[in-house]
Amino acid sequence: MRIPVLCYHSQIIAGNDYRHNGHRALAHDLEYIQQQGLRVVPLTWVAEWQRGERSDTDLQHAVAISFDDGMSSDFRAVNHPEYGELAGFLPILEAFQQNHGQQQAQLHATAFVIASDRARRDIDQACHNAIGWDDNSDWEQAAKHPLLSLENHSWDHNHETCNESPGYPQGNFHSIHNFDLCELEIRRSSEYLHQRYQISPRLFAYPYGHTNPYLSEEYLPKHGPKMGLEAAFTTAGTYVEQGQSRWLLPRFVHGFHWRSEEEFQQLLQAA
Ligand SMILES: [Zn+2]
Repeated sequence: MRIPVLCYHSQIIAGNDYRHNGHRALAHDLEYIQQQGLRVVPLTWVAEWQRGERSDTDLQHAVAISFDDGMSSDFRAVNHPEYGELAGFLPILEAFQQNHGQQQAQLHATAFVIASDRARRDIDQACHNAIGWDDNSDWEQAAKHPLLSLENHSWDHNHETCNESPGYPQGNFHSIHNFDLCELEIRRSSEYLHQRYQISPRLFAYPYGHTNPYLSEEYLPKHGPKMGLEAAFTTAGTYVEQGQSRWLLPRFVHGFHWRSEEEFQQLLQAA
């Protein structure tokens, strides 16, 4: 048995077609999942099953969904200066639940959020035309929403646009390779989410999908469980299976690993 874990970005918009617009893709993909008799389940279920703590029955015909970075377009409709109104990922889930809630009783998505408000603002200004998708006015509600969990996607993504990172290479997550840097990026994020939103993150997603042996073989196995983390997700573009390291569970990324309705169908069929 193997489970596809899907990753969408609500803020990376390069058109109104399936390939370049995650809102359009997510709405389509949910309907296709439903048509195929598959079920969306929480990502924590996948992690529990992967380490043998949840039955195969619970994960039969299952797919899990995640969103990365925590921009406003994950939580509400936004207006794109070039491409018009985008539905917003959470509203898409809510509409889908209205139509198919009975058959999709476990419908749920995981939003991996960049904790630092300043980092999201810097990224918004540098990469998203400063259209203000970085505010966290929706997070309090999102944190309590039954269809959503907010989880740890690091403090500031070690993003190249962030001014607050101290003097180590930015723009990748490979360079987060010692205890102090991991504490700054991972523990600080979990603690902040807990203090400010009463969230206790159970999952981590590597920024850029980047990892290194210190992160996945030392820091997370040793310190992750003590701060409540149970698993970590890459973007390796394959299926979650039992026997993999729980600190290196793969995901597929929309627009990269699949770019069309046909490729999505193939991805699900190959599971
Ligand atoms: Zn990210």
